[in-house]
Amino acid sequence: MTVPFDYRAPATLADALALLRDHGEEAKPLAGGQSLVPLLALRLARPAVLVDLNRLDELRAIRREGDALVVGALVRHRALERGDGVLAACPLLQEAAALIGNVRVRTLGTIGGSLAHADPAAEWPAVVRALDGVVLVRGPAGDRAIPAGDFFVGALVTALRPGELIVGVRLPVLGPGAGGAVEEFSRRAGDFAIVAAVAVVELAPDGTVARARVSLAGAGSIPQRLPETEAALAGRRPDPETLRGAASRASAIEPEGDAHASAAYRRHLARVLTARALARAAAVAARRGAA
Ligand SMILES: Cc1cc2nc3c(=O)[nH]c(=O)nc-3n(C[C@H](O)[C@H](O)[C@H](O)COP(=O)(O)OP(=O)(O)OC[C@H]3O[C@@H](n4cnc5c(N)ncnc54)[C@H](O)[C@@H]3O)c2cc1C
Repeated sequence: MTVPFDYRAPATLADALALLRDHGEEAKPLAGGQSLVPLLALRLARPAVLVDLNRLDELRAIRREGDALVVGALVRHRALERGDGVLAACPLLQEAAALIGNVRVRTLGTIGGSLAHADPAAEWPAVVRALDGVVLVRGPAGDRAIPAGDFFVGALVTALRPGELIVGVRLPVLGPGAGGAVEEFSRRAGDFAIVAAVAVVELAPDGTVARARVSLAGAGSIPQRLPETEAALAGRRPDPETLRGAASRASAIEPEGDAHASAAYRRHLARVLTARALARAAAVAARRGAA
């Protein structure tokens, strides 16, 4: 069965937004195509107009703004994995990008596409959530800066409104005494994670935890923070027993079981991977504090 659609490749962001506005729900932006093209092939998405974003150089920029990095929506996973230039300030991004799919997927897929697609098992939503990042959006009503905690609404559902595009994401750069780590379990290298844990640990000058943040992918319909785990670490020394005790609170999550893993197994993975991610993040933080 052929399903015809119109293909447009605007040269400017303003033109892309105008096309989205004019065609409403009938139009779909195309970035790396690594999620959208399979949906088109399966006829699960049937847009009348594909608005290809790949000519929009303005969405490819990466810049440092004070204590933050602003990463354009069209920046590929592979560029984030390489971590060149200002990206070198965020090793957590390199670590997360390297876990995505295979090199072909990473070469084409974009951070904006991943955030917009909002797969519950994807790495970028969990990383952006752990870092308290902000998704930068432009649309018919102007610009919006949406905190990650408000952006992910459900599985494959975000706070994006009709006609809006993600233009980038603002991520804090971790300072001295702070470190991050990603740990995940998948059946085969390159598969989507069954569960992934992203931890960020900031140490006070006396070596106690000033702030810890953990977010999970694959443990619910949106990336979940673990407030009880985070609270259990505040003001404590990140010794192995404390980290394990805090991570054990991840068992409170209530994931759904599916064909890939039962709910109980996901809960087990959440606890184990949180402990590992926290231990590594704390070790990185201690090393960077001493530097
Ligand atoms: C074999 C395979 C393995 C994979 N493994 C993983 C994995 O392990 N982890 C992982 O996280 N991902 C994985 N992916 C998905 C991959 O990361 C995709 O790149 C990502 O989900 C979507 O990014 P994209 O640039 O390809 O977006 P597209 O596929 O082009 O678009 C995805 C969706 O986002 C919308 N969209 C795109 N850009 C924007 C924008 N700027 N503003 C608003 N809406 C936009 C599109 O309309 C579409 O609805 C895998 C994909 C494949 C094919």
